[in-house]
Amino acid sequence: MIIVLLGPPGAGKGTQGERLAARLDVPKIATGDVLRAAVRDGTPLGLEAKAAMDRGDLVPDAVIMGIMKEALASPMAAKGAILDGVVRTTPQADGLADTLATLGRTLDAVLLFEVDEEELVRRLSGRTTCDVCQRPFFGREPGEACGVDGDVPQGTLVRRKDDEPEAIRKRMQVYRDQTAPVIDWYSARGANMVRVDAIGSLEDVEARVHAALGLT
Ligand code: AMP
Repeated sequence: MIIVLLGPPGAGKGTQGERLAARLDVPKIATGDVLRAAVRDGTPLGLEAKAAMDRGDLVPDAVIMGIMKEALASPMAAKGAILDGVVRTTPQADGLADTLATLGRTLDAVLLFEVDEEELVRRLSGRTTCDVCQRPFFGREPGEACGVDGDVPQGTLVRRKDDEPEAIRKRMQVYRDQTAPVIDWYSARGANMVRVDAIGSLEDVEARVHAALGLT
């Protein structure tokens, strides 16, 4: 199954995407995570992306398409993938369609996470993120140990630069201007787009995601 998670920053795409990927036993491809790891490691990709990310702007489509193509063509994605945070522009939607056609795959669903802007700002300004596993936390302070056991070394919670108030405002504007048109792009092409009310507990939203996809 190939599923695109669409929605504004802070809507819960990452958290729900991780759970859905585990449920379907497919990888989650999160361009934001790939880019943050590149910034942390100081790779050429990271150096190219850092300034735009810190401002809350989008990274150029060509950079994103490179990451997306490589991830989708990898054997790990043979059964499918959850695309979290891609696509964010109509050229990326075009690029994904071309990539899937080349790979002989189809897009199964677009899940549109809906949350009002006031709630999004509240969530993002209270969010810290592990600098290693990238999980988000709410109500925990920067500098605390992540504390999540797993197959990754434990990291420290940080406030993402783009979760500062000015960058949050910028990201909302970028969403309205550049990402919201992707909804019409998919509607016009008859994609299987399902709206999910993303306000509520993690479990409630997850149940809505499963219902939307017909998972029992
Ligand atoms: P996210 O973790 O999805 O909120 O992404 C963090 C930042 O990475 C975004 O604000 C952008 O600067 C960049 N980014 C991630 N995915 C994309 C994308 N599909 N297109 C452009 N920029 C992206």
